[in-house]
Amino acid sequence: REQRSRMPIYPGLERYRLLEKMGDGAFSNVYKAINVVTGEKVAIKVVRKRELNNAQRSNILKEVRIMRQLKHKSIVALKSFSESDDYYYLVLELMEGGELFHQIVRLTYFSEQLSRHVIVQVAEGIRYLHEEVGVVHRDIKPENLLFEPIPFIPSKVPKPNLFDEPKEDEGEFIPGVGGGGIGRIKIADFGLSKIVWNEQTMTPCGTVGYTAPEIVKDERYSKSVDMWALGCVLYTMLCGFPPFYDESIRDLTEKVAKGSYSFLSPWWDNISDSSKDLITHLLTVDPEKRYTINQFFEHPWIKEQQIYPKSAI
Ligand code: ADP
Ligand code: MG
Repeated sequence: REQRSRMPIYPGLERYRLLEKMGDGAFSNVYKAINVVTGEKVAIKVVRKRELNNAQRSNILKEVRIMRQLKHKSIVALKSFSESDDYYYLVLELMEGGELFHQIVRLTYFSEQLSRHVIVQVAEGIRYLHEEVGVVHRDIKPENLLFEPIPFIPSKVPKPNLFDEPKEDEGEFIPGVGGGGIGRIKIADFGLSKIVWNEQTMTPCGTVGYTAPEIVKDERYSKSVDMWALGCVLYTMLCGFPPFYDESIRDLTEKVAKGSYSFLSPWWDNISDSSKDLITHLLTVDPEKRYTINQFFEHPWIKEQQIYPKSAI
């Protein structure tokens, strides 16, 4: 009750009761809310218009325009969009589990099975974006990957179970979530996303026959930024820290530019060579040589048997 009384009131959102704050960004707050008419629970991203310049405003509208075109089980759905004088409201499908980021912090690192379970779902979302709609996300990271929790199903899940790393964590109750594992994962935050030229979708680039090679090339490269990020996410899940890190932004930038990362001992000692091989193909500096989303799905580490029953997801 205390929480509720501290919730702000927004004009135009009378149909919703805000329940709690789930996240915030530079210009926005995200709330868990309930539609008082239908009882449906949603997430609402409230963006403060006044703090945005024109470019940032049109960016939000682009985020909305792109999200409206998307419909996939690995993409957070935009349910509706509205605005008041001071705010934009993005009503989103609620992801009760929150950020994948917090689960990596909580569990220290993921088993190979759990990492595969997560990365395959993210990659299915990327395959949809790249191959079916011609959109690049450009901000794939554990903070923008949200999940639905699932209860343990011990009779169906062979050991090691969903939370097999570290062992003591088995069966722990996640506050506000109801205790459970990581179920469906979805990609959120299309704030940096972009429509790319695509033979199938014929996005608004005019007559394809007149498109310059550097544009076509540029846009082929732009998909590869998501594949790099996918490699960073996979690396991070498996060991618990990111492939590129430095206190100094200058040094970090240089490390990324050179692609200088390693599979540090002892953390990587017991992790399969096959997963390292896949990461190496994703964290390839030359975008022409980097794996595409279709090559990702052909890799043996991805094709290895998945121990979780499909019904669990
Ligand atoms: P920003 O552009 O500020 O990063 P995001 O769209 O990434 O905005 O939202 C910020 C945070 O709010 C997310 O990292 C997440 O913690 C939370 N959040 C966003 N959308 C949802 C959602 N649909 N369900 C649950 N939490 C969400
Ligand atoms: Mg974000």
